[in-house]
Formats: sequence, structure tokens, C-alpha cells
Amino acid sequence: MEAMTKDLWVFVETNEDGTAKNVGIELLTPGKLLAEKQGGSLVAVILGENVEKAVNMAGRHGADKIIAAEAPELRAYSTDAYTEAICKLVKKYGPTSMMIGATNNGRDLGPRVSCRLQTGLVADCTALDIDEESGNVAWTRPAFGGNLMATILCPDHRPQIGTVRPGVFKKREPVENRAEIIREEIHIDPKDIRTRILDLITYMNSENVDLEGAEIIVSGGRGVGGPEGFGPVKALADALGGTVGASRAAVDAGWISHAHQVGQTGKTVGPKLYIACGISGAIQHLAGMSGSDCVIAINKDPDAPIFDVANYGVVGDLFEVLPALTEELRKDRA
Ligand code: FAD
Repeated sequence: MEAMTKDLWVFVETNEDGTAKNVGIELLTPGKLLAEKQGGSLVAVILGENVEKAVNMAGRHGADKIIAAEAPELRAYSTDAYTEAICKLVKKYGPTSMMIGATNNGRDLGPRVSCRLQTGLVADCTALDIDEESGNVAWTRPAFGGNLMATILCPDHRPQIGTVRPGVFKKREPVENRAEIIREEIHIDPKDIRTRILDLITYMNSENVDLEGAEIIVSGGRGVGGPEGFGPVKALADALGGTVGASRAAVDAGWISHAHQVGQTGKTVGPKLYIACGISGAIQHLAGMSGSDCVIAINKDPDAPIFDVANYGVVGDLFEVLPALTEELRKDRA
């Protein structure tokens, strides 16, 4: 289909309490720049049953317009209802591009919508820009096992759609909400929804690791040498009020669970402080943490590639450096 506007849409997914999921708000940051470059507006699209909190959050984080569709059928995510609702809105308003957070639901919704609209989808992007020559969105994502970054254009079909990983972009500072709010009445015939949500149960267990929202992460790699090697990593994380991360080598060795993995096949993180301990700095690991504001690397090999991306580096044995650091921090707090 043809784009009728130069508008860029961000699908802002909601939580059960009607607030916006972080990734939707994060995407408004690149969305603003890209919409300006395309000469269109940044539009947040919000579906649900009671979405006022999400509408307010989107407005305060830079959306020029917000399309809010509320209906009981949209209370909880379902592939059928959300696909139908988004496709109806796209056909009505004709945006030129649309970004969706690569959450479980977003990864389900994006491909379904793109197929229905007969356009393309670039999944799991980690960088976004506008291609100067063609004016298309340049969607960048890791390819060939993360060994290279591929930049993909969708020149012939509209809208251009991409899913973007949580934690890649930072939320803007909130401003006054000046967004134009468009209320849409959308009703989906219950017969067309093939799944029924009977109940929503929040899954909580000891592995509820929030790496994506963490401001401080202390990660351990193969250099920690075994599961007990995560002891000093965890002690430092606790002293800093941070969260424990890990490289895939440590996860694959069974020293820590996958919930802690940072990188291309783990979580993408963007903390204020990332401390990499005994991690060499393979490209697949960097893909998940290079958005950190400040990186400290502790490694006994002075040539480890992690030092190329670190703001501060300590060449040394993590089993000496970490306890010393933790001790100093504890003294400071005492
Ligand atoms: P190593 O590369 O073995 O590095 C260990 C480091 O510890 C070395 O630099 C060493 O000098 C240092 N060290 C050893 N002992 C000490 C000590 N006592 N004190 C201080 N330093 C010490 N990796 C990820 O991390 N995340 C991913 O999501 C991911 N996805 C991948 C996806 C694909 C498709 C592929 C092919 C690979 C992926 N990898 C991923 C794996 C990646 O290529 C690396 O193999 C991995 O990151 C290496 O982990 P590491 O740095 O802990 O181990």
C-alpha cells in the first residue's frame, strides 16, 4: 500500500496497569529524530482498555500525536485483535513507517501485521537512521551470527516496519504533554479472536532478573572460572545496588542462568554503569551492552578487546580487584 503521510508510528505496548512498557517510550527517542528527518509527525499508537496512563507517558516523552483505541477486546494482547486493530488504523491513516518494541508480544505482532499489509519487516533492530539517498528508514540489525551488522531498507512497500530491542535507546527527559490525542473506536468481532484470555498471572521467581531496567550491572564472563566465581561479582553488584549480568560463555558453561545473559542472544542493556569482569569483549557481547553510559572492564589480558569499548580499564585478576573494590565501597557506606 502507498503511504498517505510521512508520519512515523511507534506502537506503545501497555502493561496490565495501563502504563506504557518501557520499550515503547524508549522508541519515541529515535522516533522523534527519524520523523523530523522524514518531514512527518511522531505518532504513538496505543491499544488497550484503559490507556490514559500510557497516553500521558507517550505525550510527555515526545509524541506529537497519539492514536488511542480502547475496547474490552483489546484489554489484553491477542494476536488476532491487535493485528486487526493495527491494520485498520494503518489503512485509515497511512503512516510511512512503524516501530514496534521487540517484546514477546511485539515479536508476535510485527510479522503478522507486515504480512497482512504485504510489506516488509526488519526484526530485532539495534540501530536506526534515515538513508540519505532514498529517504527510507535504514534499519540495522546483527546478521550472520552477529559477525556483521546489516542495514536493511524497505523501498517498495509501505509502511516500513521494524521491531527494535528493548534497552537499545534511552527515554527522553519528560516534557509538558502537548500531543494531539485522537480517540479511535475499534471493535473486533469476538468470533475473530481465536484465543481467549482467561486470567493473567504474573510469573515471578528467583530468576526475575531485570537487566533491561538496571542502572548498574556487574557482569561476569568465562574469567570467573566457575559458578562460585560469581560470588565476588554478586558481592560487588550488591554493594553498588546493581544487577548481575553474564557473558554467554558463563551461561553456556552452566555457571549462571540464561536470564542473566547480556548480548546478541541475551538481553540488550543500557545502564549508567556496566562493569565487565573476566569478559573478553566478543562482538556478540558488545552488541548487548555498548549502549551503556560508562563501561569499566576488569581483565588480566591487557589486549582484551573489551578495553577498546571501556571508559576505564583495570588490568588485573578479578579475584583481587573485585573484593578490594567491594571492601572500599562498604567502608564508604559504613
Ligand atoms: P572469553 O572470550 O573466553 O573471555 C574470558 C576473558 O576472561 C579473557 O579475556 C581472559 O583474559 C579473562 N580472564 C580470565 N581469567 C581472569 C581473571 N582471573 N581475572 C580477570 N580476567 C580474567 N556472547 C555473549 O556474551 N552474549 C551473547 O548474547 C552471545 N551471543 C552469541 C550468538 C552467536 C550466534 C555466537 C556465535 C556467539 C555468541 N556469543 C555471545 C559468544 C561470544 O562470541 C563469545 O564466545 C563470548 O562472549 C565469550 O565470553 P567471555 O568473554 O566470557 O569468554
